[in-house]
Amino acid sequence: VGFGGGKTLDTAKAVAHALEIPVAIVPTIASTDAPCSALSVIYTPEGEVDRYLILPKNPELVLVDTAVIARAPARFLVAGIGDALATWFEAEACRQSYSANMSGDLGSVTAFALARLCYDTILEYGLPAVISCEEGVVTPALERVVEANTLLSGLGFESGGLGAAHAIHNGLTELAGTHDSWHGEKVAIGVLASLFLTDKPREIIDEVFDFCMEVGLPTTLEEIGLDGVSDADLMRAAERACAEGETIHNEPIPITPEAVVAALRAADGEGRRLMDGVLEG
Ligand SMILES: [Zn+2]
Repeated sequence: VGFGGGKTLDTAKAVAHALEIPVAIVPTIASTDAPCSALSVIYTPEGEVDRYLILPKNPELVLVDTAVIARAPARFLVAGIGDALATWFEAEACRQSYSANMSGDLGSVTAFALARLCYDTILEYGLPAVISCEEGVVTPALERVVEANTLLSGLGFESGGLGAAHAIHNGLTELAGTHDSWHGEKVAIGVLASLFLTDKPREIIDEVFDFCMEVGLPTTLEEIGLDGVSDADLMRAAERACAEGETIHNEPIPITPEAVVAALRAADGEGRRLMDGVLEG
């Protein structure tokens, strides 16, 4: 039985696999989409993403008590929303490019519809859910967002596929400055950068940035520990994000490390512009 958050649950899944025994997953926070998936992310002792361990089956049981989730710090839920924010964009990239999902197959229409439902749910109920969590209470909005973060995002990424956002996250873990920010927070920066990287329309960019500001997800590099980051460091992260076999290549357009650095800088600029607006307003 695995109790806790993403890394603990991934560990429980990997250990159960190694021992060939069933595993029950009991998330005490809704900070990632790890609980339902048949995948464990393996990190180095330094905190860098090493690889994905694809497991032959999903956990036998995932048990979530929203009364427990509601009593955890809201930052966990917000991070989970950041992870869930990526799901539809990444699944959509795979759909458009006919790229494989995590089991190596093309995603089903069900997977893409669940990914979209994930996005719509967090956009509609994200803020009320975060407020509920800050107050330590369970509301229907919190229930919906916990379901989106845990089940919809998990099914969406696993059966729909991953794209640029998680690859950029994996690249960012190369930079020690980011190690105090959490998976979903770095994924959110990956989503914001991916909007510029893949030339999304203005209205989508505005929608996602506004949403991140509203729920308290980072929109600037400074907020993930990269204040004053050098181009050389960003290039190191971008090269890791573009490594052979990375899911960034599931995006429907060709991507280079230079383009990833540019997208990270552009997203950071937009985030700082909006922050300045908030401070002046
Ligand atoms: Zn994730």
